[in-house]
Amino acid sequence: MKQLFSQTDISERVRQLAGEIDQAYPKDAPLVAIGILKGSFIFMADLVRAMDRDVTLDFIALSSYGDATETTGVVRLLKDLDVDIKGKDVIIVEDIVDTGLTLEYLRHYLQQRDPKSVRIATLLDKVSRRQVEMTIDYVGFEIEDGFVVGYGIDYAQQYRNLPWIGIIE
Ligand code: 5GP
Repeated sequence: MKQLFSQTDISERVRQLAGEIDQAYPKDAPLVAIGILKGSFIFMADLVRAMDRDVTLDFIALSSYGDATETTGVVRLLKDLDVDIKGKDVIIVEDIVDTGLTLEYLRHYLQQRDPKSVRIATLLDKVSRRQVEMTIDYVGFEIEDGFVVGYGIDYAQQYRNLPWIGIIE
């Protein structure tokens, strides 16, 4: 496995993203960060701790690849929200945006709950793989196609605890 981003690369970038998010919303406006399980859990933990404001956390689980390395394009909701997002600013926290199908589904799903706004923060973005057009508001790193693991991201549930991000060759 080859290292793509070191622990230092990641922590510096996450701190910058948290700063951008801090600037973007009034401090007293209710903000909800929604992590997509399981891949975003470490990014989410670091991102919200680097933010200097109150934020409510929740997680949602969507059907994943299983042990495959390609999306099927069919998304299923496995765990719903616990918090009410009506009238609140929402940030979806994702590990990787690839085709964009997962986020397309989730964005529509969340809009039905009448939030004030929905933005997206992703640690990694495979821009060249996109199948649906969408704005990603906060991107950690743009990457080429390839299968990445570490920092929460798995291959068949392994490597999530790797503190850096690597690419499987
Ligand atoms: P999309 O719906 O945008 O095609 O897929 C997004 C999801 O696919 C991500 O949340 C992630 O779970 C998974 N994914 C995309 N690329 C990779 C990758 O390189 N490695 C791993 N482990 N998962 C990936």
